[in-house]
Amino acid sequence: MNDQAPLPLRATSGGRSRYLRRIAAAVLPAALLMLFSAAGPTSTALACMGPMTEAVVVASGADVCMSPPQQQADVVEAPSSVASEPEPPAPPRPNPTGRSANELGRVLIMEYHRIWNPEAPWQRTPAGFRRDLERLYAAGFRSVPLADVLANTIDLPPGTTPVVFTFDDSYVSQFWWADGGVPAVDSAVGVMQAFAATHPDFGVHGVFYITWNTLFGAKGAAGTVMLKYLVEHGFELGNHTMSHVNFGRSSGAQVQAELGQEQALVRQSLEGYEMSTMALPYGAWPLDKNLAVSGGSDNQRYHFAAVLQVGSDPAPSPASTTFNPLVLPRVQAGEALLSYWLNWFDTHPDERYVSDGDPSALTFPLRLQSHLRPDMTQYFQIKAY
Ligand SMILES: [Zn+2]
Repeated sequence: MNDQAPLPLRATSGGRSRYLRRIAAAVLPAALLMLFSAAGPTSTALACMGPMTEAVVVASGADVCMSPPQQQADVVEAPSSVASEPEPPAPPRPNPTGRSANELGRVLIMEYHRIWNPEAPWQRTPAGFRRDLERLYAAGFRSVPLADVLANTIDLPPGTTPVVFTFDDSYVSQFWWADGGVPAVDSAVGVMQAFAATHPDFGVHGVFYITWNTLFGAKGAAGTVMLKYLVEHGFELGNHTMSHVNFGRSSGAQVQAELGQEQALVRQSLEGYEMSTMALPYGAWPLDKNLAVSGGSDNQRYHFAAVLQVGSDPAPSPASTTFNPLVLPRVQAGEALLSYWLNWFDTHPDERYVSDGDPSALTFPLRLQSHLRPDMTQYFQIKAY
C-alpha cells in the first residue's frame, strides 16, 4: 500500500493548505463514534436542514469534516525559508454577478445517475444535462471540487455560487470513449468538458461514486485507465460499494467488505489514490451507522470524511453550525427540481452561498453571525458586514 500518492488525492484549489495545516491536529476519529452515539443521522439530518441546534452535532461535525489522517501527507509544513517569503498582493477579482458575499449560505450538490435518452427517473438526457449547466452558469453558479467544500476552501470569484456535481453508479452513459480516445461528447464527462471549453470559468469538477462491478462497463485494465483519466482531469472518485448493496439489509461484515474491497482495489489500481467520501446506495444506512464512515481491516481499511445521501436539499455551508459532512444532502438532477431550487435561492437570498473571492476570509451579512461555526474564527479572517 502506498499512501504517498503520485496522483492527486483530490482536485485542489488555492488556500486549502493553510487551513488544512492548521486543522491537521484536530482529526479525531473518536468524534465519529460520538457523532452517531450521541446524535444519530436522523437527528443530525434534521440539524442539517434547519437553524442551528445541538452543540454535540456541531462539535462532531467540526472535527469530522477534516481529511482522515492517511491523507495528510500532502499538507506538511513548508520549510520556513519558503514560508517567510512575502507573497505579492493578489489583484482584485471581478465580480461577474454583482451579488454581495454570503459564505454562510447553502451549497448545491447535484446528484446524477444515467446521462441518456429519454428523460426518465434517475436518467437525465445529454441535452438536459447541458441545459442544467447553462442554467446554473447563467444563475451565477460555478463548479467546485467536493473536497474544497469539505475543507472549507472554496475558491471562486466574488459574487459566484458553488455547485458540486456527483454521478452515482458508474454507468456507461456517464463515461465512454469516442473514437480517438476522448470521452464521448454525450457522456457526462464529455458534456462537462465541452461546456468548460466555451465557459472556462465554470470549471470541470465532479465526483464519480463508483460501483466496482459496473465501472463504466469496463473490466480490469480498461477500467483502471478510465479511473486514471478522471483523476488526472480534475474529477474525484468516491466509494459506492462493490455491487451496489443495500446496507439496510446487510450484515456488518458485508458492509465492510463492500466498502473495504472497493477502497483497496482503487488504491491498488491508482497508486494509492484514497477515496475520501462515499455515497449510500439507495440512501440506506447500515444498522451500525459508524460502519458507513470507517471500518475494514488490514489493506481494506476505509475512513470517509463525508457520507452523501440520496436527497434532498442544498447542503449547509461548511462554515455553518449546521454543517455535518457525515449526513450530506444532495439535490436530484431533473428539470423541475433544478427550477425549484434556482427559484428557491432567488426567493431566499440569505440561504445562497455567495463567494467573497478570498479563500482566506469568511464574509457574510452580520445578521447571520449566529450561524458561524465558532472554530472558524481560528482559521479564517471573519468579515461580517
Ligand atoms: Zn447508486
